[in-house]
Amino acid sequence: MLRDSFGRVATDLRVSLTDRCNLRCSYCMPPEGLDWLPKPELLTAEEIVRLVAIGVERLGITEVRYTGGEPLLRRELVDIVARTTALAPRPQVSLTTNGIGLARLAGPLAAAGLDRVNVSLDTLDRETFVKLAHRDRLADVLAGLAAAEAAGLRPVKINAVLMRGVNDHEAVPLLRYCLDKGYELRFIEQMPLDAQHGWRRENMITADEILATLQASFDLTDADPAERGSAPAELFLVGGGPARVGVIGSVTRPFCGACDRVRLTADGQIRNCLFATDESDLRAAMRSGVSDDELAERWLAAVRIKKAGHGIDDPAFLQPSRPMSAIGG
Ligand code: SAM
Repeated sequence: MLRDSFGRVATDLRVSLTDRCNLRCSYCMPPEGLDWLPKPELLTAEEIVRLVAIGVERLGITEVRYTGGEPLLRRELVDIVARTTALAPRPQVSLTTNGIGLARLAGPLAAAGLDRVNVSLDTLDRETFVKLAHRDRLADVLAGLAAAEAAGLRPVKINAVLMRGVNDHEAVPLLRYCLDKGYELRFIEQMPLDAQHGWRRENMITADEILATLQASFDLTDADPAERGSAPAELFLVGGGPARVGVIGSVTRPFCGACDRVRLTADGQIRNCLFATDESDLRAAMRSGVSDDELAERWLAAVRIKKAGHGIDDPAFLQPSRPMSAIGG
């Protein structure tokens, strides 16, 4: 088991398949993009599946979430998903994506055994989308969402980040849209993970603000807290249920005490926290020819030293040198 010194057990593995993205969401990266990892530094599909198999077969990983960057840009994605769902014990396999390309890939991914998708959607307004993501792709995202639903990748979950003065007036329309379509919406507080280091606490739309805005238009009641488990979202029933909305207060309502995640970056580094400043290099180990046992040992050691919390409120907090796109959100 991937147990840390505080007794938390990591069972949820987030795997970044690429640091590249076809959007430039300003809370994540600058409009001109970033210096992408050179191809030889990326794990091959073979290497990814080997590490995921070690996680699932030896280390108690029960959920695998492919992310990025934009995972739909990874050519071998369908094959990687198929090989992951063929593992025993079979893990839950999901994808976090911006949805561009899902119109084409939702069917093949469902056929490969993908269980669910989380699609990022911060606005329903084309101009706001262009302002926020620096690309005119809202129609592709909406088409991708519809394709995911049609392919049975349900419940389709939506992630939204609100930015002051950009899309913070859209909390209510976003929820109306999701209720109408049967998608499950989660608002995520903006975290200090942008490559430009432009995050300012005073600009962040807090979980309290989001809830106050939603409560002015909807009847929200606490969903059964027992259901939350280690999930980061606080869930609310809308209009008595069964529809739900979630709010993820990553900064103001941290959930580190219940964290069950561990991350593998596209270049093969184990990170025990989004905000970790240390990594364990499994790619170098793997390419030097070590055994699966040795890789598992290194992975266990990397998780053992996980810190108690992300420390954003600590005066000594340092934003990790990798931005979100290079970690895998
Ligand atoms: N490209 C995919 C996508 O758009 O979902 C997967 C990667 S993206 C980094 C994963 C999630 O992280 C998205 O929902 C995105 O909104 C969120 N994200 C990125 N930067 C963030 C930040 N600074 N604070 C909070 N969430 C962020």
